[in-house]
Amino acid sequence: MGTTTGRRGNDGKSNTRVGRFGHRPGGAVGDSVVIRGRPYGVWGGSSFSSSGTGKSSSPPPVLKNAEDLAAFIKERVSNVLVMVGAGISTPSGIPDFRSPGTGLYDNLQKYNLPYPEAIFDIDYFMTDPRPFYTLAQDLYPGINYSPNTTHHFLHLLHLQHKLQIIYTQNIDGLERLAGIPEDKVMEAHGTFTRASCTRCGRRHDGQRVKQAIVDGDVPVWCDEPKCKGKVKPDIVFFGENLPSEFWDYHHHYLPFTDLLLVMGTSLQVYPFAGIAEAVSTHTPRVLINRTPAGTIGSRPGDLHLTGDIINNINTLVEALGWQDKLRHIQQQQQHTNKTKENEE
Ligand SMILES: [Zn+2]
Repeated sequence: MGTTTGRRGNDGKSNTRVGRFGHRPGGAVGDSVVIRGRPYGVWGGSSFSSSGTGKSSSPPPVLKNAEDLAAFIKERVSNVLVMVGAGISTPSGIPDFRSPGTGLYDNLQKYNLPYPEAIFDIDYFMTDPRPFYTLAQDLYPGINYSPNTTHHFLHLLHLQHKLQIIYTQNIDGLERLAGIPEDKVMEAHGTFTRASCTRCGRRHDGQRVKQAIVDGDVPVWCDEPKCKGKVKPDIVFFGENLPSEFWDYHHHYLPFTDLLLVMGTSLQVYPFAGIAEAVSTHTPRVLINRTPAGTIGSRPGDLHLTGDIINNINTLVEALGWQDKLRHIQQQQQHTNKTKENEE
């Protein structure tokens, strides 16, 4: 395996891959960086008032609406760091964990949990894993829910060589189902695609565990001699650490990020929400969410696009002139879904 030479940004195709994520360090953090053939921070002529982002000391450009954002993305951006939460999956029919009344926590009465969050509490799981396994039957990627326009837009952002990485709080796996490459998605709260023993830590085949859970053949037991621990999909529970790669944003992404896009999250859960605060003050931050969230709005370069998320994405796609490209991706997805249905 070779080493990377400062390629921690998005070149669309030629990152040297080390480990699961495409931007693992080979060279030292201080390497000089050239992104898409030009030194970082030099953008040339532009209609925007500032001369650059990232390491530049100039103030961030002022983005007033979706049209400004679209022009900025087209002219000046090659590394969008995206943060997403439950709000991008509610249009797919997945209940938001926190919305009163319709939220997932409010609909868990049938599990007789002592408190709603217990379903993701590791100590509770060790005592009674049935509620989580039952929930997993519903949430397992590729069974009940499909990606929506927001996921397709993120895929398009990748195909246009604009996407640096997506940090997702979601465990529904819809980013992967939308076709976004694995090394472009940091699943901060874990994934159903892998599973491990809660006692000895041994990795178990994700597909086998999925099949057992879907068939109701639970608990899934570790088959390591003398272990007999319960096997759990690698979803991060309360009381568990986030994947170590989560912290890569400090050195591997943010120094090269030229736009932060936050979508469908209320930015209440830390350490995830901390990424938005760690972004350089010279980098514009844009929130696309039903309501204002976190500290976004407190800096001059911040923009809110509040209201219906799908409407906002469609407006942005139109301003970018990417409608045909988005439609093409959606048609491909429908074709993939139909092929899968026919196979089943
Ligand atoms: Zn074990």
